[in-house]
Amino acid sequence: MPKWRTHRIILEKALGNFNLNLRKDFLDGLFNGIIDPDIKQDKKIIISKKRTYEKEITHHDVHNNLIRYYYELSLYYVRRNKWYFSGFMLGRCLHYIHDSIIKRRKMLIIDAHEEIENELEKLSDMISELCKEKIIKKSSSNPKEIICSAYYMSIDILRNFFEESSKDIDINLLKEKIRKIRIIKLLILLGFSIMIFYSLVLILLWIIAFYLVIEYKPNVYHEAMKAGLIIVKPTGYKTAY
Ligand SMILES: [Zn+2]
Repeated sequence: MPKWRTHRIILEKALGNFNLNLRKDFLDGLFNGIIDPDIKQDKKIIISKKRTYEKEITHHDVHNNLIRYYYELSLYYVRRNKWYFSGFMLGRCLHYIHDSIIKRRKMLIIDAHEEIENELEKLSDMISELCKEKIIKKSSSNPKEIICSAYYMSIDILRNFFEESSKDIDINLLKEKIRKIRIIKLLILLGFSIMIFYSLVLILLWIIAFYLVIEYKPNVYHEAMKAGLIIVKPTGYKTAY
């Protein structure tokens, strides 16, 4: 994975494309967040037949769910006026995007790893000249393609973020939608609970009916006993004969 300095330089150059007066706490969060996944790691929950456990994730895999999560979390904090956290989460999102571009096979060879890291760091200093044409590759093992893709993807994410964070949102409409979904969820669970309750009642009724039917001994049984056909035991006794 790229060095911390590389992550930060790509971010800095990507930010240079926006003529915005960004808050200092937002920027602080952004530059801290972009290296943070290497310090505070996300874990993946693995459910196997034997047990459930947490596994540290590998950075060169693509974690689209995490990328989406941290992007949305950054917008969440913006709406709550927590600017540092907003920047921080956006930084984590960008870190995963940068890492995801580096093709996996390359990373397994230790020497190539070190080599490519140095190469990436070197190239990141000359992004402006290097990435004149827009390159976006989802994964690559070519250092120039990696750097330029990381750069252009960062610009896209930042642009989306700035657009979305300044958009007007109809909060009441959203609240209403969430409320409806929660009611539907509740009704589904309630429906199944009622079904299970009545199933249990039915089982109980079945047991009672079974007992009553077995114990039903009409007169004809007694006549049959006296005629030597069957033996009818008295209810509620364990007879000696
Ligand atoms: Zn990483």
